[in-house]
Parts: sequence; structure tokens; C-alpha cells
Amino acid sequence: MRAQRARALAVQRPDAAEVLELAARAYEILDPRPAPDWDQLPGVLDELYRELSPFAPGPLRNAKPEAEELGRYLHEPNPLMPASFYARLALEAWARGAPIQQTNPKPNECPHCGHAPQLGVLRPAGNGEALMLACSLCRREWPYRRISCPQCGESDHDKLTFYTTPKYEGVQVQTCSTCSAYIYLFQPEKEPALVPEVDELSLLALDVWALELGYQKVWPNLAGV
Ligand SMILES: [Zn+2]
Ligand SMILES: [Zn+2]
Repeated sequence: MRAQRARALAVQRPDAAEVLELAARAYEILDPRPAPDWDQLPGVLDELYRELSPFAPGPLRNAKPEAEELGRYLHEPNPLMPASFYARLALEAWARGAPIQQTNPKPNECPHCGHAPQLGVLRPAGNGEALMLACSLCRREWPYRRISCPQCGESDHDKLTFYTTPKYEGVQVQTCSTCSAYIYLFQPEKEPALVPEVDELSLLALDVWALELGYQKVWPNLAGV
């Protein structure tokens, strides 16, 4: 399902096609399999690099990841290093099945693996919408206060802005003028085909717009954007 969505979006949004095609190849390898054990991860990492790098843009093509990158990204993640692209995909597959749990997670940390949120999902609840944050590593969702910044916790309505554009149905850009963070909020109700972490990779035009306004994404995505 993720691979299909990535391939469909690559056609609709050619500016993001390169990373979407690459993600589709990764999902085709990983998604049909059971979650790998930690011991299997170095092999998964090698396989991802071997299969994906011939199709990757320059920085990713030459960023052969060492096995150490797995522990490094898990404990001290640096999403701007090109090798983290492969490590994050392998770790995501592992985390799906890993019996991990954070003892005292902050509201903006994944209660499963402790990583930062990648995006928000608005789901119908009662008469309104509930905000779920989705993890940048294991992709699980957890509830977060609606109308508040996932980076600094700001909840003053005057400091938070929500942008939409008809070009991207079911997507809002939430910005915070207190900490200059932005994050995408997805509304599957409005666009049932969307797969939040895949769609998040397709919004390069909005990323450029937000960056030009001086905002920084709460957490860079697989492509380091
Ligand atoms: Zn997580
Ligand atoms: Zn903020």
C-alpha cells in the first residue's frame, strides 16, 4: 500500500519523484516481510543500500551505511546525514516488532521508541478533531494536544497558523512563531488515499515555501528535508 501510494504520488508530483520512487523500492522490499530482529538488521541495511543506491541521487548513492549507523541513529539520530536514509528504513522495520517502550516519554516523544514526531494526523473525534503525532522512526501514533506546537508546546492561538492550499487536498501546514517550527497535519477524511508518511515526502514545494518564510521542520524526513 505504501509502495503504491509512493508510485502514484511520484507521477502527480514530479518535483518529489526521485525520493518517492526510492521509498517505493524500499517499501516493496520491507513491507511484505515480518519485522526483522536486531541481529538481522546489518543484512537488511546492506540489502537496502545494494538495491536502492543505483537509483539514488548522488549524496545517497555514495553514502554506504556502516552497521554502526543503526545504533547511532537509534540513540543519537542525525537525520541530515545521507547514510541515515538507509538506517531509518531498516530501523523502522525492526521497531515495528521490537518490544520497546519508553518509561517516561515527553508529550512530543514517541512512547514506543522515543523519537521525534514526523507529522500530525487529524482524526474525527466527537464533534471535532483529535491530533495524533506520528513517529519519525517507527511511524506509530500517539495523542497530542490539539492547537499546540509539537516542538515547543506553544498553545497561544495567535502564535500558531494553519495554512492550506487547494493544490494539496487533506494537508495543513502548522507553523509556530514562537520557535519557528513547522509540521504537516494530514486529514485522511479529506483525502482517503493518503498515507501520511508517504505523502509527507511529496510536499517539497510546500517545504521550500516554509523554509523561505524562515521555518524549520520539527524533524527532517527520510530525504533530509
Ligand atoms: Zn516511534
Ligand atoms: Zn513552537
